[in-house]
Amino acid sequence: MVEGRIIKALSGFYYVQTTDGVYQCKGRGVFRKKKITPLVGDFVTFDIDDNNEGYITQVKPRTTELVRPPIANINQAIIVSSATMPEFSTTLLDRFLVLIEAKGLKPIIFITKIDAIDEVTRENINNYKKEYESIGYTVELFSAKKPTELEKMKQYFSSSVSVIAGQSGVGKSSLLNVLNPQLLLKTADISKSLGRGKHTTRHVELMEVGGGLVADTPGFSALDFDELELAELPHCFPEMRERSDECKFRGCMHLKEPKCAVKQAVESGDIASYRYDHYVSFADEIQSRKPRY
Ligand code: GDP
Ligand code: ZN
Repeated sequence: MVEGRIIKALSGFYYVQTTDGVYQCKGRGVFRKKKITPLVGDFVTFDIDDNNEGYITQVKPRTTELVRPPIANINQAIIVSSATMPEFSTTLLDRFLVLIEAKGLKPIIFITKIDAIDEVTRENINNYKKEYESIGYTVELFSAKKPTELEKMKQYFSSSVSVIAGQSGVGKSSLLNVLNPQLLLKTADISKSLGRGKHTTRHVELMEVGGGLVADTPGFSALDFDELELAELPHCFPEMRERSDECKFRGCMHLKEPKCAVKQAVESGDIASYRYDHYVSFADEIQSRKPRY
């Protein structure tokens, strides 16, 4: 019996990393009966048959489990935004933050391509950095074109299992390639010169970066709030979460209620108004969602 962690699932096989290499394994019927599907990130035990093929016999209990992308035992999510190309958007960033907070994961914010912006944009981005830091988030600005400055980024990956999320084209692959040149991930430039689209394979895979593991997941691009209940939304904004005890009404949604500490903080400028505006529009979006059957 051998133990390891599934780092890739592809065409019915699970690739399990152990202390002495990666084994190609199959699932056993046992899972189908118990309705457990092994996920990338799972710790498993498996048997090896005479042909050196592995058969997974047990999936260890998970600490976390994501459905989209399907991955287990992740402890943080790195959101990559770009300062330009595409333009930096707090709306999109807040969407990612809400989805990650809702999963109970720790978000970290990366803003890349700062080599490609002028002074004014730089100042703007610096202000956003300060604002998000004041909420309690970690924010790092960098450029994948300046590899020597990227050593410090490795600390965010070491000893963690992360998902990396962000719009297509922000520079996720470029960053991971600099941090681990062995990955050889396709970037926009390369796929353009080869004349075919990127992400031709849409499987989830854990890759070694900076001493930890990270999954680059096109699947995170489904940015809707379909799995979020309205009552959960205030808990996905740390600056609202920490003030909710001060609202007059227990379970205040910070919308139409009187004597709301959150709305007061927006008025006094202690909560950024764009953050509150996003909260209101996300709440609208959840409320107007068609009921699920
Ligand atoms: P992904 O879709 O998020 O993986 O993005 P890619 O890594 O493929 O990058 C998209 C485009 O942005 C490519 O043309 C990269 O060369 C470019 N890019 C990535 N990082 C940087 C950066 O730090 N500075 C500049 N100027 N361009 C970058
Ligand atoms: Zn309130």
